[in-house]
Amino acid sequence: MPEFPDIELYLHALRPRVLGQVVRRVRIGSPFLVRTTTPPPDALVGHAITDLRRLGKRIAFATEGPWLVLHLMIAGRLQWKPAAAPLPGRMGLLALDLDHGTLILTEAGTKRRASVHMAADAATALAMDPGGLEVPGADAGEFRARIEAERHTLKRTLTDPSLLSGIGNAYSDEILHRARLSPLRMSDALSDDEHVRLFDAAQWVLRHWRDRLVAETGDTFPTKVTAFRPGMAAHGRYGQPCPVCATPIQRLRYAANEANYCPQCQTGGRLLADRGLSRLLREDWPRTLDELERRKVERREGPPSAVGGERTGTGGMRNPTQPADVVAQPSRRGGRLRDR
Ligand SMILES: [Zn+2]
Repeated sequence: MPEFPDIELYLHALRPRVLGQVVRRVRIGSPFLVRTTTPPPDALVGHAITDLRRLGKRIAFATEGPWLVLHLMIAGRLQWKPAAAPLPGRMGLLALDLDHGTLILTEAGTKRRASVHMAADAATALAMDPGGLEVPGADAGEFRARIEAERHTLKRTLTDPSLLSGIGNAYSDEILHRARLSPLRMSDALSDDEHVRLFDAAQWVLRHWRDRLVAETGDTFPTKVTAFRPGMAAHGRYGQPCPVCATPIQRLRYAANEANYCPQCQTGGRLLADRGLSRLLREDWPRTLDELERRKVERREGPPSAVGGERTGTGGMRNPTQPADVVAQPSRRGGRLRDR
């Protein structure tokens, strides 16, 4: 995050504002921001911005001299302000002062993940592209080759920037929901029909959200860039009804990451074992929707017999029917989801 639709939205807003304008000053708000030593960011001063490029989830600012490549990571955001606007306190990481405005990079939170890499020339900058396939515009054969290139879960494959460009946690959830595929399906074991569904879903989701965000933002500069969009089908909607079948959206938590999915549409009614929850609930993890429903009834009406009653207290079983109550709220962090 931000992912393909969000970056495309930024590019849409940036192009009319920055192309052709000369960099007058570069202000750096954090010593951790710039990850390269040469050329220094000041080398941009006096050069006009000639092009803007998306390199995976990065944004490259091209000049006829050095290039600046920006990675927003999770919490990095862009603001467009009047020329020479002050860099906001703790959150302000970079100000690029141009003739008619200032582009400001902010990052919420305390972790400094957003980065700037400087490149002496175009070739060096373009080499920072992690090499993932650009899905809109790709054909089905190219896409399938990337999906099958390595054996991973689909969640991992879709979010691997060296395989596919610009897809992260949010839009992979949306693609898998639309394709009606489990996030844990192995990427080398799909049927022909499933490959078609995945390709069509990936095309549709990325184009739809890019066009929708651009249309909603119009000529203004985007100020609400978030991984959680009203109208998403699965991502960030844990516990809310699936828009297709009304089954509550479930979640699967891996390390600091979370996948959201519909068990009815995507996993044949199975709930996917969540590592943290599985440990917490031990054998009490409901394996199917039916079992979950049965437990809800038992909880309301009491178990059919004394056997199987809930233990409470520290370390014991807790209410297995409402996983939301025993774990933290959905993680707002992105990052990679690994199928280890
Ligand atoms: Zn559903």
